[in-house]
Parts: sequence; structure tokens; C-alpha cells
Amino acid sequence: MPTAFDLVFRNARTRGASTPVDIGIAGGRIAAIEPHLICETAEIDVGGKLVLPGFVDTHIHLDKACLLGRCAHDHGSVSEAIRAVAAMKRDFTVEDIYARGARVIERAITFGTTRMRTHVEIDPRIGLRGFEAIKALKRDYAWAIDISPCVFPQEGLTNDPGAEELLIAALRDGGEAIGGCPYVDTDPNAHIEKIFDLAQEFDVDVDLHLDFDLDPSWWHMEEVCRQTERRNYQGRVAIGHATKLSALPPDRLKTATERLANAGVAVTVLPATDLYLLGRDATHNAPRGLTMAHKLVAHGVLCSVATNNVQNPFTPFGDASLLRMANFYANIAHAKVNEFDACLDLVTDLPARLMNLRDYGISVGNPADIILLDTDSGRGAIAELPEVLMGFKRGRQTFERRLPMLFPPKS
Ligand SMILES: [Zn+2]
Repeated sequence: MPTAFDLVFRNARTRGASTPVDIGIAGGRIAAIEPHLICETAEIDVGGKLVLPGFVDTHIHLDKACLLGRCAHDHGSVSEAIRAVAAMKRDFTVEDIYARGARVIERAITFGTTRMRTHVEIDPRIGLRGFEAIKALKRDYAWAIDISPCVFPQEGLTNDPGAEELLIAALRDGGEAIGGCPYVDTDPNAHIEKIFDLAQEFDVDVDLHLDFDLDPSWWHMEEVCRQTERRNYQGRVAIGHATKLSALPPDRLKTATERLANAGVAVTVLPATDLYLLGRDATHNAPRGLTMAHKLVAHGVLCSVATNNVQNPFTPFGDASLLRMANFYANIAHAKVNEFDACLDLVTDLPARLMNLRDYGISVGNPADIILLDTDSGRGAIAELPEVLMGFKRGRQTFERRLPMLFPPKS
């Protein structure tokens, strides 16, 4: 008796498998993965191409995306970029944030992202307007992408009266993680302490913007590791940028890597912003400021590579494509060809673990989140930057991307 499926993918190449398989979908979930499924149902023959469970973006800012044209964009540092956005966001409305966020989400969907943690600014200037817009976007695009809001005070906490009360209000109303930005606070350690207090109170994960410079003489990493261990929060804490790690000589990097691995603190590398804002002082041989995520992973640190900013004073580029970002990272990080698969992990399996997603992956029982790439291997995905041809969320098709066509003259 053939099993009843709603849809079957034929000849799908999953990562690491030596031969293509058939994937049967039923009730929005992956119901079977076998060499030859016998059934009579709708089917898509993917011809041996690579399928993935979608890309996972752990760090993006939907609320301040797409601001090109609203300011002069002559910012040369992270503090100037923060000031520029702080000035603009007083005028943000829920509708404005929603419209800009929707543009980025739709691009992310059509580039294969199926899960996303968006960092949402919460402070007395913006109030909860950004958060309200993100909640509406989460609801309206749930058919294609799971959006998880991480609320955070971009302009400080102990130095910004009213910010904490607003963070608490957001955590009571759907904030799924809490972030922080200790380097802008007048009391960075108290900032970190308060963020962990709130994380514990609301039982949410912590995802901090940490150091964002190339001076290894001071950092807040140790305090984050200390708080993580003190509160038994191993596996629930991530730090973004962590660019100081790129400035460490090998012996100090080894010590820092072991500290992060032992404390269970993950690192998110944000190549587009790090390369754009760092190394500005150099007249030549500018430093890259990029932390080597795939090498940290090889030494036991959980890492992801993510989008961060899209077309704003922090990063005037961006299309929300995580495959492009992984390719960009691999290029800058001098990744060897045999490390390309590890680079693809940085935008798929590892960010899913960072977000503690328990139902991610092409395995029986998981939601049928599936994207199809025009290549046949993980290595090819990084090397060729192939088209993402189609995507499915919980078994329902969400987009299709056609391959370019050539029209040579008839002879
Ligand atoms: Zn960020």
C-alpha cells in the first residue's frame, strides 16, 4: 500500500549523501527520505540538485534597513553610524518600518532564508514602534519565514532612563531573545549584568552586539563568559561582530577560543559591516577586521555568519542573500576549497543551533522547509554562487526563481 504524501521531491541531493534520494512531504512535514518512494502524488524531479532546509539568518536589522537616501552617508565609524540612525529613527513610523522591513524580508525569502532573528531597537526615542512593525511582519510573512524578534537597547541601558521599562514591555509582548550593546553604555558591565537579569527573568536567550573595533587591549568578552557560566546559560548566549578576535596574535586567540568554547558562548560574524566600517584609519594595507568563524568552529566555538545591516549608514550594501554572504565570507577568510562545506554550515546548521531551533534540518518529522539550489554539492553552493531555484515552507511552495535564458542567433 503506497504511503500517502502531499508532495514528493525526486532525485534530491542532500548534503553529504552519496546518491540522490526522494523526499516525501505529508501534512507540512518531511514524512520519508528514501532512495525510491513508491506513491502516486504530485512530484517534482529536481534532477540531482542540492536541497537544503533553508538559510538561517541569526542577525539582521529589519527596522533600520533601506535608509539610503535619507542621510548623507559620509559616516566613517560605528559611532557615527549609530548617531545617524538615532537621528533618523525619531521620525520612523510603524508603517515606514513595516514597508522597509517587508522589502528585505521578500528578498530574503527569494534567496532561500526560512528562519531569521531580527534585532529590534528599543529605547525612549523609538519606543515600541519598531517592535510593533516587526510583530506585524512576523505575522504577515509566517507563510514563508519564521521571524524571531531579539529586542535590544542600541544606545545604551544604564545611561538611558526608560529603556529598561520598554525592554520589559517588549519581552512581555513577544520578544523572543534579548540583546545588548555594552560598548555604547557608560557602565558596560552593569549593562551586561542587567541584560542577563532580564534574560533569566523572561527565560530567553541572549544575543549581544559586542566589541566592534580592532583594539585587543580591552574587551567585554570575559564578562559575558563569566555571566554565562554564573547563570548556567551555556548554549544560550551569542556575541555579534567580536572583531577584536581578528586582531589577536595566535597565542591570545587560542586562549580566547578556549574561553568561548568552554563557556558555551557563540560568535556571529557579520562580514559586510565589519569590512565596511573597520580599518578606516589605514592609508594602505587596511585590516579586514573579520573574525575567522570557520576556524573557531574547528576549535569548538559555535559560530554563524549573518547579514546584519542592509542599505543603511552601517552598511550601504545588501540584498539579504545568506548564500552570497557565505561566499563573501569564504573569499575574505581565505577558506580552502575543502573548507567550503564548513562555510555553508555557517549559514545553515550552525545558526540553527545558535538559535536553539530543534526542528531544523532535512530529517523525517521536521517541518518541510526546503530550498533547491542549482548545484549538486555544498562545495558548489559556495564556489558557484548558484541560483536558489525554489523554496517551500512547511511543504507549501513560497517562491520560484527562473534560470537566465540565452537567445543565440539561429544559424
Ligand atoms: Zn547588528
